[in-house]
Amino acid sequence: MDFALSEEQNAIFDMAYAFGQEQIAPHAQGWEKDGTIPKALWPQIGELGFGGLYVSEEYGGSGLSRLDATLVFEALAMACPAVGSFLSIHNMCGGMIDKFGSDETKKKWLPDLCTMSTVYSYCLTEPGSGSDAAALKTRAKPSDVGYTLNGSKAFISGGGYSDAYICMVRSGVDGPKGISALVVEDGTPGLSFGGLEDKMGWKAQPTAQVQFDDCAVPAANLIGTEGKGFSYAMAGLDGGRLNISAGALGGAQQALNLTLQYMSERRAFGQSIDQFQGLQFRLAEYETKLQASRTFLRQAAWKLDNGAPDASKFCAMAKLMVTDVAFDVANGCLQLHGGYGYLADYGIEKIVRDLRVHQILEGTNEIMRVIVARHLLAENR
Ligand SMILES: Cc1cc2nc3c(=O)[nH]c(=O)nc-3n(C[C@H](O)[C@H](O)[C@H](O)COP(=O)(O)OP(=O)(O)OC[C@H]3O[C@@H](n4cnc5c(N)ncnc54)[C@H](O)[C@@H]3O)c2cc1C
Repeated sequence: MDFALSEEQNAIFDMAYAFGQEQIAPHAQGWEKDGTIPKALWPQIGELGFGGLYVSEEYGGSGLSRLDATLVFEALAMACPAVGSFLSIHNMCGGMIDKFGSDETKKKWLPDLCTMSTVYSYCLTEPGSGSDAAALKTRAKPSDVGYTLNGSKAFISGGGYSDAYICMVRSGVDGPKGISALVVEDGTPGLSFGGLEDKMGWKAQPTAQVQFDDCAVPAANLIGTEGKGFSYAMAGLDGGRLNISAGALGGAQQALNLTLQYMSERRAFGQSIDQFQGLQFRLAEYETKLQASRTFLRQAAWKLDNGAPDASKFCAMAKLMVTDVAFDVANGCLQLHGGYGYLADYGIEKIVRDLRVHQILEGTNEIMRVIVARHLLAENR
């Protein structure tokens, strides 16, 4: 058993960290105010090979492992969790097409996905179904050209901003077996978007409803086999949960780094506040929790990379543990900044706001408990 990162993995982390600090961090607060991320950023990220992290090299991807990808998302989140997480959703889409699409499908969509000249969103949630995602109602009726879509998707990261949307739609019977996954390109007649949601965090990335009104989608846009879309979407989420956890970890690590620096400078009662043992114990606790989370996250990623039978359970456990720990650590770091933690200039309050949603999306942390318990009970049968 070897817990060390390879030289290549360290280089991947360093490259992502440097890019984040140079090209994202200085703009993070401005982009949050603007409520959008400049589109020009994405091709730069594509050039680094981060547009299709685990897409096969044959189709323009980087062919990296899930563990490698967590390093990228951890490092980018140290600059801005909202930007890093947006990229993670795009990569989840790439992973789904690469894993489940036909050769033709992959040739058609993946090269532009990898360079990020086409930015992707993932559309599963609907106004009437979030956690109970298999109850989705957006209907895909067969037509002469392929499918006609009617319905709407809620909370879509990149809604109205992205160039293409992977949409889970009902093409058949009720329940998970009647769901298919289709690519819907921006500009398709019948595709429209709701107004921008006003959110607590992740403000830099636009979130909106995606609506279909007799939206005609060619049959060639089907990913894989009709009726298998729900299993593809869930498989995508296993890796997505690792990425969302890695983003939370990076945000919390950045909060801890900022806090260590701040505490060495801030004085109270005649000494720097990092000299109070009660506060030192808090720092020690945060460091321990983040390191434990990192190890557990990488173990879950390793399981997914190696096709371990309990990989889904580990991805759910990692998401539950890492995102809860990360939020608590970031919130604790805000407390250690006193009143200054509440001010935008100190960079902590944004991290706390950004990390809160990591406990909610890609399956709430209650749903992570449901998944883990289901596996546990099945293993015990
Ligand atoms: C900023 C943001 C971005 C998002 N981006 C995307 C995106 O890009 N694509 C996408 O498809 N979705 C996206 N989502 C949606 C997100 O995945 C859902 O909000 C999430 O899955 C929860 O669904 P819901 O909001 O409908 O809550 P509900 O399912 O209504 O849940 C409400 C509460 O009930 C609990 N609950 C529900 N069922 C159970 C159960 N069986 N046992 C115990 N507790 C339960 C939940 O944990 C929660 O606490 C995004 C959400 C946000 C906030």
